[in-house]
Amino acid sequence: MRTLGVVGGGVIGLAVAWRAAVDGWSVTLLDPAVATGASWVAGGMLAPLSEGWPGEERVLEFGAAALARWPGFAARLEAATGAGVFVADETMTVALDAADAADLRTVADWVGAGGHELRILDRAGVRALEPSLARTVRAALLAPTEPAIDNRLLVTALRRAAEAAGVVVRAEDVASLAELPYDQIVLAAGAASARLWPELPVRPVKGEILRLRQRSGAPPAPRRVVRARVHGRPVYLVPRPDGIVVGATQYEAGFDTAVTVAGVRDLIADAEAVFPGIGEYELLEASAGSRPGSPDNLPLIGRLSERIIVAAGHGRNGMLTVPLTVDAVAGLLADTPLPEAEVADPQRFSITVGGTR
Ligand SMILES: Cc1cc2nc3c(=O)[nH]c(=O)nc-3n(C[C@H](O)[C@H](O)[C@H](O)COP(=O)(O)OP(=O)(O)OC[C@H]3O[C@@H](n4cnc5c(N)ncnc54)[C@H](O)[C@@H]3O)c2cc1C
Repeated sequence: MRTLGVVGGGVIGLAVAWRAAVDGWSVTLLDPAVATGASWVAGGMLAPLSEGWPGEERVLEFGAAALARWPGFAARLEAATGAGVFVADETMTVALDAADAADLRTVADWVGAGGHELRILDRAGVRALEPSLARTVRAALLAPTEPAIDNRLLVTALRRAAEAAGVVVRAEDVASLAELPYDQIVLAAGAASARLWPELPVRPVKGEILRLRQRSGAPPAPRRVVRARVHGRPVYLVPRPDGIVVGATQYEAGFDTAVTVAGVRDLIADAEAVFPGIGEYELLEASAGSRPGSPDNLPLIGRLSERIIVAAGHGRNGMLTVPLTVDAVAGLLADTPLPEAEVADPQRFSITVGGTR
């Protein structure tokens, strides 16, 4: 049996390891702290259409192709573990002023032209679907095909599925890929991937996020993902069975994962502008993580050498793009590359490829 070493046990490494084991590889996953990176911190939106913007065709196409793979991926995970990971069926992006409303029409026209379903709602339409939102919400863009998942359920289930399929998980901080003894290696160390392959243009992009629990008597949370821009800052609410996740700040701060007072203050204020009932919720957790950012907001999935494949740089969309990433890596391991993943080829950054290391 051919051996595969997967370096990194976030959502990408766990899902790749599971798939490879199912495909017949003998898989060892190496990570000193499985599922504690960005994948544990994240929100769980799967929103490539709502986040579409003219000029970003490749990001939209890649995200839409990933979204289309989510139902099958989730069904296979549920069959393997019993875990259902979806927490919402739709995404609503709301406008608080005229400029936001104009932007929503731009997105609806541009993304809609590609055949994707998006609907503009007026004030009454928003109120009918989400009555707990602020009266100041004047319009919204509804994406009926964009669900959300619970990222923590997801990574927990992926680990269970991987181990049940035979993946051996070892608590090991890999210092050098060259010294690993496997036939093939997948580098999936998230924001830290460039530490193991310095040419990779992957950098940490800090994000802070809050987890809130609905106390008894507090107004019910929106049932859909709600996204907005408040004072120029993006904010989103992702439902959970017991409350809401409120995210997320975004800035360059190296590998800093301290939660700042300003980050928490802004997230709460911006979320309250959209959903006023939030003040009555319990603040359960404030956390921060490092998104593995890439220069063009597309991941890097491809061969670095005869033995090493990279699957990193998923930025703010690693949950969304995991099913497509898994299929792309499986294709590379089987020497049948996936056409939809060509845009993620690391060669677009002229990285030196070759050698046997
Ligand atoms: C605040 C926030 C909100 C987000 N919200 C969303 C969202 O709503 N939707 C979405 O699609 N995405 C979202 N993301 C992005 C998503 O979380 C990431 O793209 C995704 O988790 C990346 O997964 P990963 O497995 O590459 O990295 P990680 O989850 O960071 O995992 C990398 C793993 O590699 C391990 N590792 C590192 N170095 C080594 C080494 N030398 N040896 C062995 N192991 C090593 C680490 O311990 C870690 O476990 C969000 C991210 C953040 C921070």
